[in-house]
Amino acid sequence: MDYELREEQKKFKSDFRAFCEKEIVPRAMKIDREGAFSFENHRGLAEIGFLGLPFPKQYGGEGKPLLTCVLAWEELARSCPSTFLSSGIGCLLPGMAVNLFGTEEQKQKYLRGLVRGEKMAAWAMTEPQTGSDTGSIKTEARREGNSYRLNGTKALVTNGPIADWAVVMAVTDTQAVPNQKMSAFLVEKGTPGFSAGPPLDKLGARGSPTSDLILQDCILPGSGLLGEEGKGYALLEKVQHFGRLSSAGYSLGVAQACLEEAVLYAQKRQAFGRPIAHFQEISFKVADMQMFVDTGRLLLYRTAWMMDEGMDADSDLSIAKLFLSESATWCAANAVQIHGGHGFLKGCKAEQLYRDAKLGDLRDGTSEMQRRKIALNLLGEGFR
Ligand SMILES: Cc1cc2nc3c(=O)[nH]c(=O)nc-3n(C[C@H](O)[C@H](O)[C@H](O)COP(=O)(O)OP(=O)(O)OC[C@H]3O[C@@H](n4cnc5c(N)ncnc54)[C@H](O)[C@@H]3O)c2cc1C
Repeated sequence: MDYELREEQKKFKSDFRAFCEKEIVPRAMKIDREGAFSFENHRGLAEIGFLGLPFPKQYGGEGKPLLTCVLAWEELARSCPSTFLSSGIGCLLPGMAVNLFGTEEQKQKYLRGLVRGEKMAAWAMTEPQTGSDTGSIKTEARREGNSYRLNGTKALVTNGPIADWAVVMAVTDTQAVPNQKMSAFLVEKGTPGFSAGPPLDKLGARGSPTSDLILQDCILPGSGLLGEEGKGYALLEKVQHFGRLSSAGYSLGVAQACLEEAVLYAQKRQAFGRPIAHFQEISFKVADMQMFVDTGRLLLYRTAWMMDEGMDADSDLSIAKLFLSESATWCAANAVQIHGGHGFLKGCKAEQLYRDAKLGDLRDGTSEMQRRKIALNLLGEGFR
């Protein structure tokens, strides 16, 4: 058993951190304040190969193992959670759907532009009336000869307002058994009947645009089908693995940033004639933060490694995601606490992290759904 990253992995992580410190960190507070996605960050990330990390070389990607991807995800989320949400998770999920289920033509067409940073993508599963209960989606794709007519609304879609294309999940057979009801579709911006709602105002990750996507008699050619008709559930399950992994990376980056902010402030802020770090109430908080961050990092790295090795990591993904998202919200609340009243003010990094952290509990399966998954894998189908 080897817990040490290899030399090239350590170098990759520290080089990527240096890039983020120079290019991403200086814009992070502004992005949050203005609630505007940074295309400048996105282009920079494309240039250094970040967008292509997990994708095969034949489509312009870097073909890196997931463990390497996680090292970069953690650093980007530590530097700017919003940028990681849009340029990382937001592009990873539709990209992975195409990479794993697309035809050669679809991969050439959609992955290359994504990896180069020329096209933005979105993953559209959630609907206004359902999120966790994925089997209850209502968006319908009716076959009409060799085409499909799509009707429905997708909600809370990351990159919705700026996406050039989206993977949209829709019901193709209302009568089929639950895991054969839905299919995935590739819908391009500009397709008649396809539009984005206005950007939604959010608590955190404010520099990552979110919106509804609306399909109103949107006609797609048969070539818009991604994977096989009726096999959307299998696609969804696979994509959700990458969702949980990258979401855990989001929370790890946020928790690490909270720890660093808390340590810095505790050492510099004076009270009763000494740095507040000298009070046990404060020093034990940062000690606990370190414990959560380190434990979560071990869980996440192990899970990424298991996936790279082709092992079943279903429970491990949920454990890592659940532990890290709850650790990040705990670390963020305590980073604000250590900053005292100043932590409650706009312009304080801890305040931003406090808002950004909460998303980890909600996206890519809520904490409740992760606990259900872990319990189901332990207790078996009877548990349902
Ligand atoms: C900023 C942001 C970006 C997002 N980006 C995307 C995106 O790109 N694409 C996309 O498709 N979706 C996206 N989402 C949606 C996200 O995945 C959903 O919000 C999430 O799946 C939860 O669904 P819901 O909001 O409908 O909550 P619900 O499913 O209605 O759940 C409400 C509450 O009930 C709990 N609950 C539900 N069912 C159970 C149960 N069986 N047992 C116990 N508790 C339960 C939940 O845990 C939660 O606490 C995004 C959300 C946010 C906030």
